[in-house]
Amino acid sequence: MADIYIRGGWIITMDNARRIIKEGAVAIEDGYIVDIGKKEELDKKYRYYSDIVINAEKDIVMPGLINTHVHLAQGLLRACAEYQPLIPWLRDRIWPLQGNYKPEEALVSAKLVVAEMIRTGTTTFLETGLVGRYGPDNIIEFIHESGIRAAVARHVMDMTGYALEENILHEGLVELGDKSFKDTLRLYNKYHGWDNKIWIWFGPRTPGAVSVELYRKISEKARELKTGITMHLAEVKADVEYTLKKFGKKPVEFAEWVGLTGRNVVLVHVIWVDDNEISILARTSTSVSHNPCCNMKLGSGAAKIREMLDHGVNVALGTDGGPSNNDYDLLREMKHAALLQTLRKLDPTAIRAEEVLEMATINGAKALMIENMVGSIEKGKRADIIVVDYWQPHLRPLNNPIAHLVFSATGLDVKHSIIDGKLVMYNREILTFNVDKVLEEADKAAYELYSRTGICKEPDIVWPII
Ligand SMILES: [Zn+2]
Repeated sequence: MADIYIRGGWIITMDNARRIIKEGAVAIEDGYIVDIGKKEELDKKYRYYSDIVINAEKDIVMPGLINTHVHLAQGLLRACAEYQPLIPWLRDRIWPLQGNYKPEEALVSAKLVVAEMIRTGTTTFLETGLVGRYGPDNIIEFIHESGIRAAVARHVMDMTGYALEENILHEGLVELGDKSFKDTLRLYNKYHGWDNKIWIWFGPRTPGAVSVELYRKISEKARELKTGITMHLAEVKADVEYTLKKFGKKPVEFAEWVGLTGRNVVLVHVIWVDDNEISILARTSTSVSHNPCCNMKLGSGAAKIREMLDHGVNVALGTDGGPSNNDYDLLREMKHAALLQTLRKLDPTAIRAEEVLEMATINGAKALMIENMVGSIEKGKRADIIVVDYWQPHLRPLNNPIAHLVFSATGLDVKHSIIDGKLVMYNREILTFNVDKVLEEADKAAYELYSRTGICKEPDIVWPII
């Protein structure tokens, strides 16, 4: 018998051999995957003797998705900063909005984002940087309550610039001295390792907002505490100009110089880099979080993902945030990741669907240093599994489930989600919290935030609204 028994369909295991099991089945007990194989065999042991039996015979069963770049605080900012390049986008709209958050509004934003992620098949995510004014404790406690798994970085900073722009960070987000570093340690002591589902990371802000001394201190402390670091890097050309002018180094050279490379580091975007910098990423086992929708939407550029994969860099996938994507649906992100590479290289063979699926699952687990725990469906791993509804017009005929997943499916096709062996979504309904209530709270909180700041009060639509 098992706690949960899933009778597939196709099982995309993402194990070392990348086996795909036709008419497969998976058994889950005490949070672990205890059995995987052909349905015919496993049915004998589990079909009539399990607490929950999920019939997924027309569906795809696969590891939960791992979103390696999320801004929980940007959920209420969806469509609040259209048609802007990164720096004015941050300075004039995003930071003033985030810098005016009340803790209860930031919490509603986080709830909205977590609801969207669970709904669309994400089972683990990396939050890039909470700050003091969001009241981060409540957000972390909600993440735990929701059932999702997360590495939560807290922003660390001691300066107020970004790239060559000085003093552009909104005053509501400024945390000088050792305030943000110390608070990260406080959160680490309070939450790190909670139920093996929550980890506290360092989230240094981009070059221009952090001194070299503080970067080095973060690097040393993260190694000592055996935790991770994540940071945006080389997202726009101005990032390159800054490190070259100030330090005579390209962005990845700078990152290595201050200790922000290594197996415990996830650098985000990493668009404006050369071959030597890609070699540094490979040599230092630094992971990259690729966010194609955001990069296209803000007109930032197209990352050299083909070259990174060829050099052996661990590339994972992320959605980024509500105003830069504008969704947190990692399934949809896969299609954009594939198409952006083929367009950039003018070559339809530039990337395979299998590689993109690796980025969204096992590579994400590697980036978060939890590949021994999740990222694939294997005996002995924790059960983070989603079932995708393939009995739909856009997913038939079922001749190539991997291509369908990357090019035809969206996150809304995810039907059931199991995280850490617990059913968190069943038949598209999230079981751990009331999503309707979150939607109501989100509309209300956003209206108050927009009214208070005067930003995003009117929708940015050129047509008359009567
Ligand atoms: Zn970001």
